Amino acid sequence: MRRFAVAEPDSLEAAAGILAREGAEARLLAGGIDLLGELKDRLISPRTLVNLKAVPGLEGIRSAADGTLRVGALTTLTALADHDRVRGEYPAIAQAALSVGSPEIRNVGTVGGNLCQRPRCWYYRSALHRCLKKGGDVCFTTTGESRYHAILGGGPSFIVHPSDLAPALVACDARVAIAGPKGARELPLERFYVLPSERLDHETVLVAGEIVTEVIVPPSASSAAGRRSSFLKFKERDSFDFALVSVAVSLKMAGRSCAEARLVLGGVAPVPWRAAEAEKEIVGGAVDAAAAGRAAAAALKDAAPLADNGYKVPLAKALIRRALLDLAGAPPDLTPS
Ligand SMILES: Cc1cc2nc3c(=O)[nH]c(=O)nc-3n(C[C@H](O)[C@H](O)[C@H](O)COP(=O)(O)OP(=O)(O)OC[C@H]3O[C@@H](n4cnc5c(N)ncnc54)[C@H](O)[C@@H]3O)c2cc1C
Repeated sequence: MRRFAVAEPDSLEAAAGILAREGAEARLLAGGIDLLGELKDRLISPRTLVNLKAVPGLEGIRSAADGTLRVGALTTLTALADHDRVRGEYPAIAQAALSVGSPEIRNVGTVGGNLCQRPRCWYYRSALHRCLKKGGDVCFTTTGESRYHAILGGGPSFIVHPSDLAPALVACDARVAIAGPKGARELPLERFYVLPSERLDHETVLVAGEIVTEVIVPPSASSAAGRRSSFLKFKERDSFDFALVSVAVSLKMAGRSCAEARLVLGGVAPVPWRAAEAEKEIVGGAVDAAAAGRAAAAALKDAAPLADNGYKVPLAKALIRRALLDLAGAPPDLTPS
């Protein structure tokens, strides 16, 4: 492994300055769970690691005067999952945070690092494969092993987005605050991620020197505003594992009728996948087995599985139906997908 220096900037400006100046020779370090894996696997070999933990004020969760929930980028996943307001008002976020890895990973991994972690695709993670994302000219999933890859939004690369937290936050309409050499900006988390067809070298809109500082969740997404939310994750192993498919749902009910819905899939696409067509199927009526079935069909209508991952289609449909019926308090639908 190449020798590297660790910079300890004492402000966001200083951290952003080093990152902008050094470009690919510098990498931001938060909890290090993903970054150190990339270093050890020789996927990256920066000259400098910029330790974000040296910057004060980026850790913690607070309720702002406008009712928003503001989560600092260095907040650990454990702190997020344990937070009273998150558990009480934003169950999907607490469930997603709690579903990440193992207690050790959640104790060290941060919200910013979880949202910015790189893909787990085995070709991307293998130093032996110079895939499209690493400047090569082929996505090996098209001829190789594709069982964990994208069925929606893929091409020319078929990675899937790895964070469990991201779909839950998108379902709760969260925004992300970013600091950088050109100042601060804020955007919906949904627009933070980009498809491989738009950008191959990275999965987000971040440019050199930019740092995620905070995630902001609106009060209108909380149960106090009449919302219900839930996150379901299906994984291959009972112990810690990434999602094969996950579903995050947030519903606003008006009596038995659904007034608003946000439905986001994880594990199926290169970005947290907002299923807008599915949302239309459930808004304006009762969330019963028929509506949940229509929503599931609409969400997967454009699925284009690769050779080994067709199983994700019925799996995603079943999870969508289950999540919707659970949230609406309707009896479970036992029809096979
Ligand atoms: C065995 C194992 C199992 C796992 N299981 C799951 C799982 O089930 N679900 C899941 O969601 N994740 C899972 N993960 C991933 C893990 O949750 C993330 O690696 C971790 O949350 C990253 O957080 P970190 O603070 O350690 O980030 P780091 O490793 O420090 O950083 C990760 C990446 O994000 C960048 N970065 C960090 N912070 C910021 C910031 N504020 N702004 C901009 N860029 C930033 C870094 O430069 C780096 O590229 C697993 C990881 C392992 C090793």
